[in-house]
Amino acid sequence: MTQSPSSRPLLPGSTIGVLGSGQLGRMFAIAARQMGYRVHTFSPDTDTPAGQVSDKEWKASYDNHKLLTQFSKSVDVVTFEFENIPVSSVQVVAQHTRVHPKAQVLYISQNRWREKNYLASHGFPVAPFQKVGSLGELTNAIKKIGFPCVLKTAGFGYDGKGQRKVGTWAEAETAFKSFNGAEAILEGFVSFEKELSIIAVRGSDGAVDDFGVMENIHRQHILDMTLSPARVSPSVEKRACRMAQKILKSLDVVGVMCVEMFLEKSGKLIVNELAPRPHNSGHLTINAFQTSQFEQQLRAVCGLPLGSTERLAPAVMVNLLGNEWLKREPHWERALRVPGVHLHLYGKDQARAGRKMGHITATGHSLQMAQRAALAARRAL
Ligand code: AMP
Repeated sequence: MTQSPSSRPLLPGSTIGVLGSGQLGRMFAIAARQMGYRVHTFSPDTDTPAGQVSDKEWKASYDNHKLLTQFSKSVDVVTFEFENIPVSSVQVVAQHTRVHPKAQVLYISQNRWREKNYLASHGFPVAPFQKVGSLGELTNAIKKIGFPCVLKTAGFGYDGKGQRKVGTWAEAETAFKSFNGAEAILEGFVSFEKELSIIAVRGSDGAVDDFGVMENIHRQHILDMTLSPARVSPSVEKRACRMAQKILKSLDVVGVMCVEMFLEKSGKLIVNELAPRPHNSGHLTINAFQTSQFEQQLRAVCGLPLGSTERLAPAVMVNLLGNEWLKREPHWERALRVPGVHLHLYGKDQARAGRKMGHITATGHSLQMAQRAALAARRAL
């Protein structure tokens, strides 16, 4: 059977376009260049984490359709590394070249209302939720959902930005007003036992795989630590992975998608969020798995066979936030003395509190050993 030009695998030597230029784009570009691809990034900045390791850095706003068109014509396929790219920009790109995942996946996952609505209407378990566009709707939503609950802006939220846990009418009203009229959703508060994520991948031939369940620990709404494998029962592991794979199939994703879930004490799993790209909780796949999440993304968007998702060793990742830099440059050599530790820095020159500057992954013979090493290395900084 002959393949149409749009489904032919893109082989090494081809050029991959990336919309966005942060650390996810950087680690993707490193994986792509390692395999002999060229990488062009497109974002409103220069000397970016991804641009520093790319062949070409395009600087323009995402709604500069003229430059987007030129960019699209200069590459063989486009993917994105963060989900707040305007859907209209992705649609412009799609007129000129292949885009994975497709614009519809981005459209659904960049708005919490559409995402929750999609999941619920396709039979996936989510916390109770209501759309809130006015104080009247807020009152009705609280009557249905009850306290405590979480008010979130529908769009453009990440790392806990644009969300508040509320326990009283007054808190709810203050939170809603602080969003300055932005569309919001109210969600029931889930008193979860653990937060989990599944990094799953789907190839252009429909093959689906995942890296098992990651266990995530957040500090001040920002991911602090990921442990792999998660300390959950085989039954939870199986159900979580099956559910994540089903979501990728249902959305017809080509590429990597992270499915974040809450695990309740009863063993029930609730989907919290989808990220249609590689994810912070999958960074440890670089050092601890046969194939990293970034190489999987590359393989999927290029129409190549997916790599093995076998775990080589238990691993723990800890994030390095700008806070580590506030007093002085961290003591890298001390951290690197800890056996089993891998340092990843993102090339950001301005350290700010809460800004993700890098991460450390430690592997070990056991999860406990890996966790001890990762924490010791971070403390030594
Ligand atoms: P999100 O931006 O939706 O990923 O939320 C960031 C973090 O806030 C999550 O990782 C949870 O720790 C917490 N969170 C979000 N939604 C809920 C909820 N409905 N119930 C309890 N905690 C939540």
